[in-house]
Amino acid sequence: MTQHGIHHVTAFSGPVARTVDFYTRVLGLRLVKKTVNFDDPGTYHLYFGDAAGAPGTILTFFPIVHAAPGRVGIGQVSETAFRVPRASIGAWTHRLVAMGVPHEAPTAAFGETVLRLRDPDGMPLALVGVDGAEGEPAWAASDIAPEQAIRGFHGVTLLLREAGPTAAILAGVLGFESVGTEGAQTRFKGSAALGGLVTLRAVGDFLPGRQGAGSVHHVAFRAADDAAQAAMAEALRTGHGLDVTEQRDRQYFRSIYFREPGGVLFEIATDAPGFAIDEPVAELGTALKLPPFLEPHRGRIEAVLPKVA
Ligand code: ZN
Repeated sequence: MTQHGIHHVTAFSGPVARTVDFYTRVLGLRLVKKTVNFDDPGTYHLYFGDAAGAPGTILTFFPIVHAAPGRVGIGQVSETAFRVPRASIGAWTHRLVAMGVPHEAPTAAFGETVLRLRDPDGMPLALVGVDGAEGEPAWAASDIAPEQAIRGFHGVTLLLREAGPTAAILAGVLGFESVGTEGAQTRFKGSAALGGLVTLRAVGDFLPGRQGAGSVHHVAFRAADDAAQAAMAEALRTGHGLDVTEQRDRQYFRSIYFREPGGVLFEIATDAPGFAIDEPVAELGTALKLPPFLEPHRGRIEAVLPKVA
């Protein structure tokens, strides 16, 4: 069955070792792939997710040592939220206090408990306590108990001047439907349990966002296969008059990209082939993996990359 939801979220960060430490040790995600930015092979591309890096769990980073800080504004993702069991919010609050992670007191939104925090680059994150998440599988190879562990994405919030044009893409092409409004926020839901929510926050005139460390570069949505992706590209071009790139092979999925009308860069990525295509699941993330076209340059690439830990 086709799952509509977020495939992955990609952001910029600062020093690579600090990024790996925060997402693996503090949040307990698995580093599922260590590769390079295919368009800029002197920079890492790190993928964090669940045990297998399933669609809907994957947060990826381009770490740049001296990256200037980004600024959240119009046309950007203003919050990336993870899904945790509701009963674990207290334990998470304790953990963030003990580890010195900046965070706010838990609040309620859309009937859920939201614990907002920042990563070391100031990237706005949230842990959202959800009833029933305790029954979902969790990556547990850390000191975080399975009943507390992150399950994957809950969703993202987009900061927009107005919600309508972006809503038309979510509902008309990406398989989401409107499920509620709270103040300036309208929430859209796809069929996927993980990464199934996109919240549009319409704020009128406000500063535009600026890309940099701690800011999201793009959000990728799921396509079941190449045919489904091609149909979505056609709907974007002919139904909505948007420019869509040709398909690019990203080794672990195949992608098209477009700028949605609210200014956020969207990608549509295929579920297949996934992260086990070039290393066994048990060894995911342990070795630097390069796509075939970069393998001849491995020596030079390894020489310029900083140490991960
Ligand atoms: Zn991407």
